[in-house]
Amino acid sequence: MNAPAQPRMPVESGVPDAFQFMHPILKKNYGKWKWHERPRPGVLHHLAESGDHVWTVRAGTQRQMDVFTVRKLCDIADRYADGYIRFTIRSNIEFIVGEEAKLAPLIAALGAAGFPVGGTGNSVRTISHTQGWLHCDIPGTDASGVVKALMDELHEEFANERMPNRVGITTSCCEINCGGQGDIAVNIQHTKPPRITHDLVANGCERPAVGARCPGAAIRPAVVNGRPTLEVDETKCVCCGACYPPCPPMQINDPEHTKIAIWVGGKHSNARTRPTFHKLAVAGLPNNPPRWPEVAAVVKKILRTYQQDARDWERIGEWIERIGWPRFFELTGLPFTPYHIDNWRGGRGSLNASAHIRLSAGTGSGR
Ligand code: SF4
Ligand code: SF4
Repeated sequence: MNAPAQPRMPVESGVPDAFQFMHPILKKNYGKWKWHERPRPGVLHHLAESGDHVWTVRAGTQRQMDVFTVRKLCDIADRYADGYIRFTIRSNIEFIVGEEAKLAPLIAALGAAGFPVGGTGNSVRTISHTQGWLHCDIPGTDASGVVKALMDELHEEFANERMPNRVGITTSCCEINCGGQGDIAVNIQHTKPPRITHDLVANGCERPAVGARCPGAAIRPAVVNGRPTLEVDETKCVCCGACYPPCPPMQINDPEHTKIAIWVGGKHSNARTRPTFHKLAVAGLPNNPPRWPEVAAVVKKILRTYQQDARDWERIGEWIERIGWPRFFELTGLPFTPYHIDNWRGGRGSLNASAHIRLSAGTGSGR
């Protein structure tokens, strides 16, 4: 008699078991911590119920690292720490040590190698960015370049805890905004509809699928030079760029008309208040590599105003909700323009989910 068939087991190809890489003190005391403190920016000190102490040193990296940099960081871990590292979701690197005496030489070695220690408490965290030109096929700018330029100007705020609360800055290199919500978000903004190379559409694009992606129902079938293609009703197009990924002949990136917008007040966390969408603060800044000075000036202006005016523990969105949007524009000196008003008639159909500021019909206030 044949043996009963065994179910085929799935091949697990997810992340490896983290415990095998964990510092022995963390492994031994996992989930059994008594308290923790921050003796200085960038350093966490945990005491376990067993009486064990452990220190974590957090340093900023350039996020996209070559193998030589990774080796350099591993050498520092072997020489000055206990040989254990881990990366955070914002691409900081953390070194774990079981003796307080190792902290000062480790911090000095990181500083000498160009890795600032910080990113804890009420600091400006390492800026997170989307994949950009390295991995994605549709970016309108180099998100990692914007991050590098901004962090060069803000690294003092990474190394200190001088903000009212933590500040998470994100950058996204297209309007899909896969960087998520940020206290301050630096996002690409297209300002012109796509330009279509009709000869390439028939062979390169699944036309019904492209039309289905358009939130404005602006795309319709057409025939040009006897070949099937697509055309855009520009009065309906909101320049979102969603048609470009499935149909590259609908090119929307443009050296002049692809701009950068800055949004404020988003957060993912549930701490104290619910998560929020970021909202438009500044539109139409030039996409100006390699240093994006116009973007840096606006980000610094918003940060400094928040630092001076917010109450302790207010995130940027909570601060703006308290003082109101008119006061936000007054204090920062940023102009309030017609672009800040969500008057797109399709917005009602999108379940009121847009993150733009709305004018209330009753009061005319900017809330
Ligand atoms: S923001 Fe857009 S272009 Fe940038 S990585 Fe995400 S999907 Fe790609
Ligand atoms: S850019 Fe957006 S709104 Fe305009 S045609 Fe493409 S998908 Fe539609």
